[in-house]
Amino acid sequence: MTYTFDTLKQLDSSNIANTYPRNDVAFVSGNGSLLYDTEGKEYIDFTSGIGVNAMGICDVAWQEAVKEQLGKIAHISNLYYTIPQIELAKLMCEKTGMKKVFFGNSGAEANEGAIKCARKYSFDKYGPDRYEIITLVNSFHGRTMATLSATGQDHFHEFFMPFLDGFQYAQPNDTEDLKKKITAKTCAVMIETIQGEGGVQPLDRKYVEEVAAICKEKDILLIVDEVQTGNGRTGWLYSYMAFGITPDIVSTAKGLAGGLPFGAVLMGEKCKDTLNSGSHGSTFGGNPVVAAGALNVFSRLDEAFLAEIKEKEKMIDKFLGKCENIESITGMGLMKGIALKNKDAKEVLKECLKNGLLILTAKEKLRLLPPLNIENSLLEKGLSILKEVIEK
Ligand SMILES: *Cc1c(COP(=O)(O)O)cnc(C)c1O
Repeated sequence: MTYTFDTLKQLDSSNIANTYPRNDVAFVSGNGSLLYDTEGKEYIDFTSGIGVNAMGICDVAWQEAVKEQLGKIAHISNLYYTIPQIELAKLMCEKTGMKKVFFGNSGAEANEGAIKCARKYSFDKYGPDRYEIITLVNSFHGRTMATLSATGQDHFHEFFMPFLDGFQYAQPNDTEDLKKKITAKTCAVMIETIQGEGGVQPLDRKYVEEVAAICKEKDILLIVDEVQTGNGRTGWLYSYMAFGITPDIVSTAKGLAGGLPFGAVLMGEKCKDTLNSGSHGSTFGGNPVVAAGALNVFSRLDEAFLAEIKEKEKMIDKFLGKCENIESITGMGLMKGIALKNKDAKEVLKECLKNGLLILTAKEKLRLLPPLNIENSLLEKGLSILKEVIEK
């Protein structure tokens, strides 16, 4: 069936809950870092479907891995052993030094698992009164009830009362504030090394080191939310590695399965056996097809690939560095935030869209999350479009 864009838009708004501020484009196909809409117009993709399409659209090796598994078993449930998730978990543990993995289907679910794991670890060891989790102001951890509660932004705490009890919010990059918030009830601290939705705001290295040291000293679990920063996005396998810390729990999702819905909770030595039989689960989690996609993506994130991401970051910095209208560039690897001097980010996004470039915003900034394997020529071409729009 072929549709005009206007028909699609009308059908969408009359039948789908209007929870998203959609842009006026419907995409029908793509190839790598290029996308095509209903009118056949071509776009360069600096969004990766919000950090999901790690290897771009229709990556051949990824497709083959997924298709091969589709031809064997698509789904059978976690009541049986399946090969792709076993291979993936082994690889993830080997590459991170974490001890065990739990598989879910999204970022919020991964954070739910992380929160449950932290609370149970503390319950098992200290009893029922040590359950509080400290998260950071301006954080984003998801849209479920628990992860909304964990999110340190007031406007996420509207309409759906009562929220989950047991979260405290500390100011980022303020060790003294964290110390003040820690009590005998604290069981975990949860951070994003770079606050993604919060405007691509990186934490200071010294602060992250201090948080890790305080947590270690008090047997408070350190949870790093790597839903956006994980799986090569920052030029590191996981961003915590750039900060030289060892978290107790890492949650991840977005780019992990290269475009399929997937999430994972990685657990370290302390809490590797905390989530035991019956304490947590998911019908779809670790689904063979999705795990096969993730195995393909994850096994390609080697040193050489990560080094290329860091080179692409340098290209971005160099290209945009001299741009008059740019106030600052933050972020790491292919996760970049751009603060503008006298332009509205949403207007720039719209103008880029007209000119065949997809970008994102985060708070008042522009946000770039291109596919990790974007060709340098397309990266440059996209940056030229962006620069022209910003400087106009
Ligand atoms: C996107 C995101 C989430 C939520 O992930 P979903 O897959 O949308 O549930 C959680 N934490 C961070 C840091 C994110 O960027």
